Order: sequence, then structure tokens, then C-alpha cells
Amino acid sequence: MSSSGPRQAAYRLGVLKGDGIGPEVVPVAVDLADLSARAAGLSVEWVELPVGLEAYGQLGDTLPQQTVEALHGCHGWVLGPVEHHRYDPRLSGMRNPSGTLRRLFDLYANERPARNLPAVPSRYEAVDLVVVRENTEGFYADRNVLEGDAEVLVTPDVVISLRVVTRRACERIAEYAFQLARRRARLRARPGRVTAVHKANVLRRGDGLFLACCRAVASRYPDVALDDVHADAAAYFLVRDPQRYDVLVTTNLFGDILSDQAAGLVGSLGVAPSLNSGDEHAMAQAVHGSAPDIAGSGVANPTAEILSVAMLFEWLGRRFDDPAATEAARRLEEAVGAALSAGVRTPDLGGSATTAEFARAVRARLAPGSML
Ligand code: ATP
Repeated sequence: MSSSGPRQAAYRLGVLKGDGIGPEVVPVAVDLADLSARAAGLSVEWVELPVGLEAYGQLGDTLPQQTVEALHGCHGWVLGPVEHHRYDPRLSGMRNPSGTLRRLFDLYANERPARNLPAVPSRYEAVDLVVVRENTEGFYADRNVLEGDAEVLVTPDVVISLRVVTRRACERIAEYAFQLARRRARLRARPGRVTAVHKANVLRRGDGLFLACCRAVASRYPDVALDDVHADAAAYFLVRDPQRYDVLVTTNLFGDILSDQAAGLVGSLGVAPSLNSGDEHAMAQAVHGSAPDIAGSGVANPTAEILSVAMLFEWLGRRFDDPAATEAARRLEEAVGAALSAGVRTPDLGGSATTAEFARAVRARLAPGSML
């Protein structure tokens, strides 16, 4: 778990806009987050850095070395969506920035909350859960070996995919989940619960190790209950009865799938935030992709990106024991909720507001006297 460090006079945060709708939603999120930070007395220096297809065009690399070096000097950063299925891995300089950054900075925990937001049409009510996904190993061929790739083409018709599960990664992700459940229990004044999602019935060794680690960590948290569920049953129960869950902790691939499913339970990918964090750094990153079908039309929903930056502020608040950062996060979330409650909605939520109109509505709630 990240240890807390000395409070900083100012925080340096990187801004990596990404591809597709990234340049539409990231600047909006940064602008609103900055306003919220100022109101809360939090000093932030935003540093824009090249990434993605634009960086490849200009510098021949989707994740230029200068960006990586600058990020080492940042407390955290915002990464917009990257259109990595368009990146050709055979070309040098076409790395997937998202996976590479998670690995380079050991951002092992991906926290993906799914909860109902005010006035957002949704299939369910009273959903308030978080998927905690292990981020650095599992079935992800691009990050679970030191060199090369963990998918092997044995013959033209046979592929072997290797999955990596380590005790260290399982223990620290379980620890993260229990800490989170404890914080949520305090805030909500009810007992905390962690559900370990696995397939130890089939993947006996890998998921068996994961489950054993969750149980070992649970013994240090007598105030938080632990139960477990097979990944297929978790998908079933999420659709039947999502209110039953509090914190779900799981390995990389199951977490990827179940967190998108959870986003669908509460409305749209456009409102699903996430944070990737390690012991030293954190990266705000909306769950959604680059949405090429709507890129350039000015109607993308910036909510997921804004709420991801709010999660980054919350993380700064914990990491540096800084109440101003926590307050900036609270203000930002409240302003988004107020704009949605007033009925300002982008088309993915059934409304007709543009990205800019939604941003203006949030801005007006953050700084009531400001220009609309
Ligand atoms: P990736 O593989 O990068 O995750 P994808 O195509 O699987 O990409 P998304 O890019 O997230 O997934 O898009 C899925 C659908 O959700 C698309 O129809 C897209 O327009 C919509 N969508 C995603 N993000 C937003 C957003 N912020 N606002 C509105 N619609 C969105």
C-alpha cells in the first residue's frame, strides 16, 4: 500500500490527452479540476506531455522517452483513451501507452467504481460497488514477461497464452481492496465487505494462490468480511442483484471484463471513472476507450474523465495526508452531480448537451460567479 509522504506545497500532474475523444474530454476535465483545486486551496501545476498517435506522428513514438522522463517528476497524471488497436506492434515506437505505463510505474491497482449518479438513467438503483483489478500480470501478454510476448504461436493453428500469477501481486492487490473496504465502511457507517472473484475450481494453482492470499490478508482485517465467488457466477449475480456487492477484488482479465459490465449497470461508459495506482504514482484513466465513432463531433461525455481526476485528487489526499486534495475531489464530484441533477446530459445518457455545454454546467456549479 502507498505510504503517506510529506504534504506538498504544490503538486505536479501530467496531462496526456490520448487519441479519439481524448483531446475533447481531457482538457475539459483538467480545466474543471483546476478550478476545483483552486477553490479548495490546492496548488496544482499541470504539465502537458505528448502521447498516442499525435506523438507518433511528431516524434515517432506513441510513448516518447521525454514523456516517461517527465512523468517520473510528476506526482500523478491523467491519461486519456488510446486507440491502441490501431497501433501496429510490428512498428517500433508503437507501444500501448496504457499497459506500458502501468508496468513501468508499477501501477498495480486499478480501482473502478460503479455507482448510480443523480438523474443518470440506469437499469438498476442503489448500486455502489468497486471492482479492484490487479494490473500488472495475469493473462496480459504485453506485461507479464520481461522480454518478448507471453502469447506463442506454436503452429499456424495453435496458440499458447501464458498467465502469470505471483504471491506478491496477489497480496498487495488484496491489501488494497481491504484498505478500500475499510475506508468505504467508515464513510458509509456500515460493515465493509470484500468479495474475491476467481476460478480456483479450474485454474487451481493460479487462482488458488490468489484466493489463499486474499484469505491471508483478510485475517489482518477482522472488521471487514471476506467472501468469494467464481467469476462466471459473479457475472450472473452482477446482472441479477448488483446491490449485493461492496468491493470486488480480482485478477487482471476478470477485472477488465467485470468492470465494464459494472459500468453498464449504472448507465454509460461515459460516466465510469478509474484510477491506476502504485506506491509512488497514480494515473487517472476513464474506463472507456477512444470512441472513434463519435470522436470529433463534440458530444463525448466528459464525466468519466472528470471523476477519474477526482479519484486522483483523493489519492493525493491519502498519499500526502492533504485535506485540500480531498476537498478538491469532493467539490468536483458534487459539481458533476449537481449538473446531472439539473438535467444537463450528453447524448449517451439520452440528453442533447454537447461536451462544452456539460462542461459549462459543471463550471457554473464550481464557480457560481464565473462566465457561462
Ligand atoms: P477500446 O478497445 O479502446 O476499449 P472500444 O471501441 O471497445 O474501445 P469505447 O471506445 O469505450 O470502446 O466505445 C464503446 C462505445 O461507448 C462506443 O459506442 C462509444 O461511442 C461509447 N462511448 C465511450 N466513451 C464515451 C463517452 N465518454 N461519451 C459518450 N460515449 C462514449
